[in-house]
Amino acid sequence: MHKRIVNQAIIKLVISPVGPLLIKASDQGADPTKPDMEFVETYHAGGRSVYLPGSSLKGAIRAHSERIVRTIGGDSSGGQNVWSCDPLNQHSPCRGLRDIHEEDTAAIYKNSCTICQIFGSTDIAAHARVTDAYPTDTTEIQREERNGVAIDRIYGSVAVGPFNFEVLTAGEFATKIIVKNFTTAQLALIALAIRDFDKQRVGLGFAKSRGLGHVNMKVKRVEIRYPTAIVNNGKLQTLGHHSKQFNSGEVIIGAGELIGGDDQQTYGFPESDVVDSVIPPEIDEFGLGATLVFDTSDNITALWSGCVGTWRQIVQGA
Ligand SMILES: [Zn+2]
Repeated sequence: MHKRIVNQAIIKLVISPVGPLLIKASDQGADPTKPDMEFVETYHAGGRSVYLPGSSLKGAIRAHSERIVRTIGGDSSGGQNVWSCDPLNQHSPCRGLRDIHEEDTAAIYKNSCTICQIFGSTDIAAHARVTDAYPTDTTEIQREERNGVAIDRIYGSVAVGPFNFEVLTAGEFATKIIVKNFTTAQLALIALAIRDFDKQRVGLGFAKSRGLGHVNMKVKRVEIRYPTAIVNNGKLQTLGHHSKQFNSGEVIIGAGELIGGDDQQTYGFPESDVVDSVIPPEIDEFGLGATLVFDTSDNITALWSGCVGTWRQIVQGA
C-alpha cells in the first residue's frame, strides 16, 4: 500500500514573526561583508528572497509533536499505542526495523513510533512533508541586524562572539504541509503542534531559549483528497479491491478504513477511523477522485476538533 495514495491532506498555513525570528543559512560566513548569521535566501518569483526552509519547519513541527507524544506515552512501545522514540539515539527502537522486517513495509510502519510513522525515519519514508515558506508580500518583510554572543548549547558557556546576526521582524510566509495516507489522529497531532506554535508556547528557529522565534502560525485552508473515491448521492464511495460506501457526513476517513482488509491490521491502522463533517465531498474533474475543502476558520476548527476527538480516544486507550 505504500506505493498507493488513499488519502491526502493539504494544510495551507501562513507564518509570521511575533518579535525577532532567525533561521540560519547553512552557508553562513561565506561572504565576509554579510552578518555572521543571516537569514536564508533563495531565488523565488524572479528575485532574491528570504524564505523559511521546509526542512527546518518540518523539523520544528516534528520536535514539538514529539514533546506532545512524550507527555502522554513513553519512549518505547511497551504495549503503548502512543509513543515516540529518540531519533538521535543510535539504539532507538525505530532504527534497524528494516533489518528485522526486511522489505516488509507494513511491519516496519507498524513497529515504528507515532512520530516516525508521520515524519519518517532512517527506515521508513515520511508521510508528511513541508514545502519552503515564501513571503506572501516581499514589501512587508523587515530584516534587522543584531549583535549577539552565541551561547554554547551544551555547556552554557560563551562559545564564539560577539557576532552579528540578522533577524526577521515582520512579514508573512506561506507554506503547505502535505500528509499522505494519514490517520485522523495524525492530523490531530499536527494540528495541536501548529496551535502551540501559533500561541507562542514554542518557538521556531535559532535561540528559542533566548526568546527568539515566536511566530503566528495560522491554517488558512485544508483540502482532504481521496484519489480513488467517487461521490454517490453526496456519499463517499471508495473504488477497487475493498470498495466501501460511507454514510452521509462520514467524510474524513483515515488510511486504515480506506485500504481495508488485511492491510489495515498489518499496518496497525486503527480499526475505525472516520470523522464526521458537514463539508460535502466534491467529485474531482473527469469524474474520479473526491475533495473536501475547509476554508473558513469555523470549518477548520470543526475539522481539527473532530480529529482531536479521535486522538483523545487513542490516548485514553493507551
Ligand atoms: Zn520513532
